Amino acid sequence: MAIIIDGAKLAQEIRTEIKAEVEELIKSNRRAPGLAVIQVGDDPASTIYVRNKFKACAEVGMESFGFTLEDSVSEQEVLRLISDLNTDSRIDGILCQLPLPTQIDQNKIIFAIAPDKDVDGFHPYNVGLLLMGNPEALVACTPLGCMEMLKAYGIPTRGKRAVVIGRSNIVGRPMAALLLSADCTVTTTHSHTPAEDLPGICREADILVAATGKAGLITPDFINSDQVILDVGISRTADGKIVGDVDFATVEPLVKAITPVPGGVGPMTIAMLLKNTLTSYRRRMAD
Ligand code: NDP
Repeated sequence: MAIIIDGAKLAQEIRTEIKAEVEELIKSNRRAPGLAVIQVGDDPASTIYVRNKFKACAEVGMESFGFTLEDSVSEQEVLRLISDLNTDSRIDGILCQLPLPTQIDQNKIIFAIAPDKDVDGFHPYNVGLLLMGNPEALVACTPLGCMEMLKAYGIPTRGKRAVVIGRSNIVGRPMAALLLSADCTVTTTHSHTPAEDLPGICREADILVAATGKAGLITPDFINSDQVILDVGISRTADGKIVGDVDFATVEPLVKAITPVPGGVGPMTIAMLLKNTLTSYRRRMAD
């Protein structure tokens, strides 16, 4: 039986620590850290994600500022809002919930957010720092949460082989960069990795990160008994169940450690958003 990496519990512990720090700040008459969240349109999934972010902020005593814009809003209007938020002294973190409607160039929005308030870690400045192995980078929350889980469970990275399945800007690429900085030998795979090669590449991994959104992709053929698996994928089955990229029932008994879905990487992502907001706040207050 594998060690189950309990992301929900770890995320709660991190939130409790953040809450204690925010309480101290408020006791000493400082302002609370502030997070601005921009949502364009009313996509139901985005609405749930945004609501969860507000809830998480409230729980730890951070201020959140919500901006819900019409689906038809112009790119210029969103850019104007971001420019205002960039100079708003109450705000330490700005994020714009993706995806955006087609009239808005996602890259322009990402580039417009001040790098020191870029708590999603998507701005090229922060991505550049991350690739340079510079600890000043604000790092994308999901891969950052994965690294926290490895640390918390004492899973060594130095000299280990890591395989990341997926190369998105949100998960796969920053994940590979973090593992590289943590001294892993990293292989990144993607949809053009020949399907017949993928199981063999993955079997070599000490740490396997699956981030494709392809339910049940990872079967016993992909694993070895010393492997640690971080399952980032989220898919909904026909009967409404949330599942990861790993076929959990068959894989879990055969590996060393694994994150469940739900209750693994997901809760860590929001905890890291709070952590990045607090980091940004601390830097701003130190200036
Ligand atoms: P994307 O769709 O942007 O990226 C998926 C990646 O997987 C792509 O790089 C794609 O390759 C690759 N891929 C797809 N199919 C295969 C395959 N059969 N073999 C190898 N590689 C494959 O998704 P995201 O990175 O944004 O998210 C990935 C998953 O993680 C999703 O399920 C998402 O819901 C979930 N997620 C979970 C979060 C959490 O908090 N737990 C946060 C963010 C995402 P290519 O580049 O060639 O297309």
